[in-house]
Amino acid sequence: MTEPSIFTRILSGDIPGEIVLETETVFAIRDINPQAPLHMLVIPKTEQFRDVTELAAGDPQLLAEMVAVAKRIADEHANGEYRLIFNNGPSAAQSVFHVHAHVLGNLEENKLVG
Ligand code: IMP
Repeated sequence: MTEPSIFTRILSGDIPGEIVLETETVFAIRDINPQAPLHMLVIPKTEQFRDVTELAAGDPQLLAEMVAVAKRIADEHANGEYRLIFNNGPSAAQSVFHVHAHVLGNLEENKLVG
């Protein structure tokens, strides 16, 4: 049996991590290594999907729920605007193979590119 992902372990309380928002299917945590003033991760409770390509093909409604949760986070913690990033594969900087969206906000103008 494969080990639970780090995100599943946070969700289950096995390792520390503050869950800032939770719905029936999705939860959100602060990224431990923030790349922007607002940097949260939106994660499906299931670890069935490795990346957003698999998720979009297998459960588009769950992907839509992730986007809705990202918007709620941006409304609560930024000005409603947000950058949504999915890394797909090791050479694209994905390190956790339990699909998750990076929600970045409160960026300064000069940090919007790249
Ligand atoms: P990836 O590189 O797109 O797979 O993103 C994984 C993210 O998880 C990285 O931005 C890490 O900083 C973040 N991360 C890893 N471990 C933890 C943790 O224990 N709590 C919160 N974020 C974490």
